[in-house]
Amino acid sequence: MTSTLIQSTTVGPAAVSGRPAEAGLSASVSESLAAALRRSAQLERRIGEDPRSFRILTGDRPTGELHLGHYFGTLRNRVRLQDAGAELFVVVADYQALTDRDTARALDEHVIGLVTDYLATGIDPGRATIFAHSAVPELNQLLLPFLSLVSTGELGRNPTVKDEIAQLPSGGATPRTPRGAPDGSAIVSGARRQASVSGLMFTYPVHQAADILFCKGNLVPVGQDQLPHLEVTRLVARRFNERYPGAGGPVFPEPDALLSAAPLLLGTDGGKMSKSRGNAVALRATADETARLIRGAKTDAQRRISYDPASRPEVSSLVLLAALCLERDPESVAEQIGDGGAAALKATVTEAVNERFAPLRARRAELAADPGYARQVLRDGSARARTVAVATLEEVRGAMGMRY
Ligand code: ATP
Ligand code: MG
Repeated sequence: MTSTLIQSTTVGPAAVSGRPAEAGLSASVSESLAAALRRSAQLERRIGEDPRSFRILTGDRPTGELHLGHYFGTLRNRVRLQDAGAELFVVVADYQALTDRDTARALDEHVIGLVTDYLATGIDPGRATIFAHSAVPELNQLLLPFLSLVSTGELGRNPTVKDEIAQLPSGGATPRTPRGAPDGSAIVSGARRQASVSGLMFTYPVHQAADILFCKGNLVPVGQDQLPHLEVTRLVARRFNERYPGAGGPVFPEPDALLSAAPLLLGTDGGKMSKSRGNAVALRATADETARLIRGAKTDAQRRISYDPASRPEVSSLVLLAALCLERDPESVAEQIGDGGAAALKATVTEAVNERFAPLRARRAELAADPGYARQVLRDGSARARTVAVATLEEVRGAMGMRY
């Protein structure tokens, strides 16, 4: 299993990201991606030597169904690390679902669906802690000291927050429709948009720092869009440790991001595959739905299929998807399709996805028949996460001189 990752992380950023050279992706983002890929390769070596030295925290917003981007971007790594012996915490980031919605409608359904996806993917509640951050008040209390450690200027420069703000429809203090919902009137200047987003949206990277640091997570398997947030977490940890040196040494680790072979899988419209952009193939999709969605995926006019992420991002992301499902390298998949064009490429991808995910989908259907089980897993995990958060908050208050 490790070899898949070593292979993936030793190839250059252009080969794996899908679109490192796209317009709008600043040089500093490409540089930080390249640095994160090099770092991930080093981390893979350390994971191979001593997986138990890692405590993993990662999670997802309950905003819709998990998709293939999640699977290859982070879920598969979570399960691999868990199976290798690392301690795994998975947060259902329910407060963060409210960053771009002003209603909690369908939240319960999404939360239970998310936990069901985790279980179907192989996250084992006997070894891993799956929790909702709204159920862990002590985690959320960390947000207060953490907010004092970052400036609004630093938050405003976060490229992922800027991108997510750009996806919002225009409007009042909180957005009226889910992020990414088509809205032709949404051409509003960046500054105006930023002024109208909620404080929660603006500060959610700091909230994520609390999610990661409450359990002293030191490794975070994520997609490329999360790299700027990880930098915020590292900054918060560093500044906290400098400002409040604990009696027994630094209170927090500076966690690393772990990227996979697919740090940015593209959706059917050529943008990042996202739950809330209507461009995703859900993990639980049927074989027919998968075929229909992939048939409609954006490609280009060249007949010969090649793997060239920098100049052919959409075609290359499809090739990569087939390659990941088939556990082959993308160049050989492209070579085999050759002059078959987009139709042959899409047929290959559809078959590969449907074969690869058939067992997971069957497992998911069985689990979905008993939603009470997922609910119980979440309750148990939240209780366990809470004991960890209580201990960390106690340490934080001690370091800050707030134990009266
Ligand atoms: P939303 O549209 O609601 O933001 P999302 O699809 O972007 O949903 P998140 O819950 O924001 O999903 O992200 C969960 C995790 O999955 C993060 O670690 C993120 O980096 C990773 N991820 C999401 N989309 C992709 C993708 N297309 N490729 C690789 N990783 C991804
Ligand atoms: Mg997202």
